[in-house]
Amino acid sequence: MPRRTRPADVLLGGEHIAKTPSIASLLLDPEMLDFPIKDQIRTYESGQGYALRMAFENQLNGLPQIKGWLGKSRYAVLDQADARLLHRWFGADEGALGKALGQTTTGVGYETYTIAGHSLSRSYFINRSYPRVCIQCLSAYGFCACSWDLSLVVACSIHGTLLTDHCPHCQRQLSWHRPGPDACICGCNLSSHANHATEQPSDTPSALEIKFGEWASHAMYRPDTTGEKTCLARQALDGDGLMQFLRGMSLNGGLLFTHALACAAGYGDLETHDRRRPQRPLKKARRSLSSANQVARILSKDWQSIVITERPSVVIHLLADCMAAHMPETDRSLANSLLSTMFFQRRKIGWKSRFPQLSQLELFE
Ligand SMILES: [Zn+2]
Ligand SMILES: [Zn+2]
Repeated sequence: MPRRTRPADVLLGGEHIAKTPSIASLLLDPEMLDFPIKDQIRTYESGQGYALRMAFENQLNGLPQIKGWLGKSRYAVLDQADARLLHRWFGADEGALGKALGQTTTGVGYETYTIAGHSLSRSYFINRSYPRVCIQCLSAYGFCACSWDLSLVVACSIHGTLLTDHCPHCQRQLSWHRPGPDACICGCNLSSHANHATEQPSDTPSALEIKFGEWASHAMYRPDTTGEKTCLARQALDGDGLMQFLRGMSLNGGLLFTHALACAAGYGDLETHDRRRPQRPLKKARRSLSSANQVARILSKDWQSIVITERPSVVIHLLADCMAAHMPETDRSLANSLLSTMFFQRRKIGWKSRFPQLSQLELFE
């Protein structure tokens, strides 16, 4: 019975080498590992997606094996600190890979996450546990896009399709622990379903979802786009809905603003983890976008008519972060306008005293 070839054997030329104790011990040293198939990370590729792709190309046992060699548990997320060894093993430019992977920084009262060179104010802006893919993109390009890792991105603007978070064959939730970017643990090639017709109307993305996916991808890879100063009056003439407000905003600012509007509509809490209710992140993201869009439509018709009654403290904190000094002028201006309206409406119940940090912000400019 033929023995399954291990990648380490491929590297070192066969089992006679692997039987030598001194060499075998070297195989356990991550610094000494090397693999025959190498490639650069692609321009729009997810960092974790790159590691998964290279694990598949080199016939490794997916990300769990790579995490083991990196000294991480199978539940940990690859991050910027892993770029050095991944670069050594698979050949990607270390800086580009580290940038794509990003990292989480936590401390007392704060948590930030960077991805693709962007600093995000909430870790739940990134979907790290429930990967979703555009099967047609996988079929055409063979890699996972970094923008798919954003929690609110639910559609592919290239193909106009809804991203999928499950295998079309076995229906199981996709996992980062699948064998390869295009492979399910059931053995199915996801791209073999690329040309199958959409079965249900609910699988068709809305125009908003496609445009949001396009905006997020654009904002992610055009960090130098600071946009022109927001003019609310001009925006109101420019159509209605969420997308008119996001135009010109930074990735972090747009995500903060969208989540703030979704929360204002009583929805959008992507960070809640209730074990009694299985998480359906894709469905929740679609509802968040739809909810944010409803509030945005009201704002575009009559800015002063908005009354935030749902979860005002969460809305205020999201908008306050959008107004932080390091944020671009476009982001700060929009958040400032909405916060000013909220405070004007609520000044009698003393919100300002409940959020002393806001006294430092330039409200009512
Ligand atoms: Zn696509
Ligand atoms: Zn499957």
